[in-house]
Amino acid sequence: MTECLFCRIVSGEIPAEVVATSEHALAFRDINPTAPTHVLVIPTRHVVDIPTLAQAPTELADLVALGARVAASEGLDDGYRLVANTGRAGGQVVFHAHLHVIGGRRMGWPPG
Ligand code: AMP
Repeated sequence: MTECLFCRIVSGEIPAEVVATSEHALAFRDINPTAPTHVLVIPTRHVVDIPTLAQAPTELADLVALGARVAASEGLDDGYRLVANTGRAGGQVVFHAHLHVIGGRRMGWPPG
């Protein structure tokens, strides 16, 4: 049995509120949302982070396209934030690649 939290969500072993799927990716709501829309988009294959996923450009493109599809279906026509925390110092806590799709409120820069 895998110890990876997101692999266990992919397999259905741990429940999640899935909002969309694609050939290589799965989108589900973040359990601790930081905005009205906060969805995680993950590759169904276990890869540790987004730069590693870039070795498989088709899967990376599929992931980003699913994020855009989720943003559209959530009505984020005015824009949204795509975040890829990478490594411990970058704030990554779950070491299965994921994009945060965050929107529904005005976001400033730098993020806070
Ligand atoms: P990161 O810090 O980029 O690794 O983000 C991990 C994200 O996973 C955090 O925003 C958590 O709230 C979220 N998370 C952790 N466990 C779950 C879960 N079981 N279902 C949905 N989201 C989760």
